[in-house]
Amino acid sequence: MTATGHAVLGTIIAAKIGNPILAIPLAVASHIAADIFPHWDTATNRDKKGKKRVIIESFFDLIFGLLLSYTIIFLLFPQTNFLYVLFLILAAQSLDWLMIPYYFFNINFPLFKWAYKFQKSFNHDLDKPWGIINQVAVLVLIVILAKIF
Ligand SMILES: [Zn+2]
Repeated sequence: MTATGHAVLGTIIAAKIGNPILAIPLAVASHIAADIFPHWDTATNRDKKGKKRVIIESFFDLIFGLLLSYTIIFLLFPQTNFLYVLFLILAAQSLDWLMIPYYFFNINFPLFKWAYKFQKSFNHDLDKPWGIINQVAVLVLIVILAKIF
């Protein structure tokens, strides 16, 4: 999923689960579930786009995700501590953060390489537009359900 998608999932987990011992593993697991779901993200078609464009788009994806998360908390879950939200966003994105040194900068450290290989084993790409439309639909549904229940 996009960094934005992972951020929204981390945000919802933070808003609903105040106990970090439960919330952290759930946030990490949400990353895997979200990437199994067929999706578009900034690394889709990396060979065609080139590394530089992937890095630039990923940066904007990251910033947009943080702004969107802040908006969700501000409007829907204002009682949630935003530092806790940021922490769970990091947990939800952690597998992507771990592979960045290997994926973008060819740093061959075993943990970074493992994160890349591990993610490659379950990641399902689906190109635009459906890879974006279904991602947005699922996230909107999750936010609505989290607000109702
Ligand atoms: Zn991922």
